Amino acid sequence: MTEDHRPIALVMALRGQGILDPRVLSAMERTPRDLFVDAPFEAAAYENSALPIACGQTISQPYIVAYMSEALEVTEKHRVLEIGTGSGYQAAILSKLCRMVYSIERHRPLLQAAEGRFKALKLHNVVTRHGDGLKGWPEQAPFDRIILTAVVPEIPAEILAQLKPGGILIAPVGQAPGSERFSQHLVKIMQTESGPKWDTLIPVVFVPMVPGVPKEVRKSDGEESKI
Ligand code: SAH
Repeated sequence: MTEDHRPIALVMALRGQGILDPRVLSAMERTPRDLFVDAPFEAAAYENSALPIACGQTISQPYIVAYMSEALEVTEKHRVLEIGTGSGYQAAILSKLCRMVYSIERHRPLLQAAEGRFKALKLHNVVTRHGDGLKGWPEQAPFDRIILTAVVPEIPAEILAQLKPGGILIAPVGQAPGSERFSQHLVKIMQTESGPKWDTLIPVVFVPMVPGVPKEVRKSDGEESKI
């Protein structure tokens, strides 16, 4: 079998785009993105673009995943909350940088697929939850780092309250794609003694954070499906 050189090419491209943290670059190199996309998109897995996944959602562009991971300033001691598991790719990258990733997803089929990938890749420090991430994960709070991977009009106070003093939160803030005059930026919030300190980073495009969980109907054979 020939070796797949695409991860190395991706990392070189990311470096060219200004991602310099060696831990982040190494995590990107060691995480097979082709496992996180659906079969029709396998050939495009290492291109620097977002791709569609199930339930009308997207796996983020590798550059944005690397950028957010770098901006989060994660160490191997940190417990990190991710809201919006999606394919699980961002969680997989973070799992190589921190002690424990807590990842929440509202679409059960996406979560189950992501859990399968974490298992296959032996990422034992990712724990998941099916539910509404807008409430955070109070039983596991406070967190050293929090990352939102779907856009919010503003940072929910309930989530910010789950960030430790000295902690960092990264989130896309703005309007949903398709809305009039839509614009989104990544925001970095540092929890300081004198209150949260805000920084606005780069413009981005993320799917919206949606409150609640989709309704599930239980079929007679016991299978669950979304309506
Ligand atoms: N981090 C993902 C990107 C996922 S796209 C990856 O690496 O692939 C954003 C995800 O956020 C979608 O899967 C969407 O279903 C999820 N999401 C949206 N609103 C949510 C909510 N309230 N709680 C949990 N997940 C949510």
